[in-house]
Amino acid sequence: MTIASSPSTPSMLLRKKLIAGNWKMNKTSADAVSLVKEIVTVVGKEHDVEIVVCPPFTALESVARALEGTAIKLGAQNMHTEPAGAYTGEISAAMLRALFTSYVILGHSERRTFFKESDALINQKVLAALKSQLKPIVCVGETLQERESGATLKVVQTQVEHGLQGVSKELATSVVIAYEPVWAIGTGRVATTEQAQEVHAFIRSLLSKLFGEPVAQKIRILYGGSMKPANAPELLAQKDIDGGLIGGASLEARSFVDLVKAAAATK
Ligand code: PEP
Repeated sequence: MTIASSPSTPSMLLRKKLIAGNWKMNKTSADAVSLVKEIVTVVGKEHDVEIVVCPPFTALESVARALEGTAIKLGAQNMHTEPAGAYTGEISAAMLRALFTSYVILGHSERRTFFKESDALINQKVLAALKSQLKPIVCVGETLQERESGATLKVVQTQVEHGLQGVSKELATSVVIAYEPVWAIGTGRVATTEQAQEVHAFIRSLLSKLFGEPVAQKIRILYGGSMKPANAPELLAQKDIDGGLIGGASLEARSFVDLVKAAAATK
């Protein structure tokens, strides 16, 4: 059944909630398999929420095997813009696809900060990912200083508009945006529901300008930044919050599974 979007169509019919775990530089291949097996035991057949785990590159293959026959999808944490070539230490979209990877996190604030990734580079990666049928999870968000100086919406606007430059309407629904205020990542300091919803609604209005309202209504916007089972229900109940990108709480099966259950309860 195709659901035509109209202002009255409930968001849950247009956008399945998505919970993605960003394991960052944690877990050996063996540890990753243990964790994913625990997750699979509880939510491996969950179809009401889309679940994605993003282990480090070195664990992608072993985790892909452990996910076979489950509904859980595999994501990577980064990729290079080029399909192949003399780029020592890098990984291409084609290599990720060959390991059954469906998603790739791009423009995470740690990559912007520690590896000096610019909006222009992130944009090239987004286009390269889409060309290889990888769904990019494009991270945007302001620093504390930017929030305190009132620049939040301007910063997010630049990151969204530059990051998605050249993306076609047809491919835009494969993009996921993650709003991650930098001051909330790994700090235990979560955005209030009002702060998060305000930025999410703003991002959706930008997406509407870029791709038209029906397409914007289909694009998922995740919240990321110290999301935990205790604060997730309120955040996930917001109109424009379609799931979470989870760092710390995705490293333990119990908290990750509880976040999936929180998303299922608000669907
Ligand atoms: C992240 O790094 O994407 C993240 C949201 O981390 P944490 O949940 O630990 O704040």
